[in-house]
Amino acid sequence: MIKSCEICGHDFVARRSTAKYCSNRCRLMAQRGVAYTGDLKAPDVRPRLSHDEIMAIITQAHMAASDLSRAAALVPAPLSGALVEAARKIEDAMKAEGL
Ligand SMILES: [Zn+2]
Repeated sequence: MIKSCEICGHDFVARRSTAKYCSNRCRLMAQRGVAYTGDLKAPDVRPRLSHDEIMAIITQAHMAASDLSRAAALVPAPLSGALVEAARKIEDAMKAEGL
């Protein structure tokens, strides 16, 4: 999931739902009593996501579509139809963008 670092404010891919910081550097700053600094800095125009993290996000989008399809088989209409349609739209959008 994407979360916002509690120290620097940058979005990051959290591997655990309890993650609060984007990096060891920010975790250390928090341990040393540094409060949120995100608003004090100029906005960073470069995204702080690595190539691997972006690939993981793309994989998660495909997994979400797959999960929606599987969930559709377990619920009655009209929800099942809506889930199938949502899954199809996600996959079509990913395909259309070459993902
Ligand atoms: Zn941070």
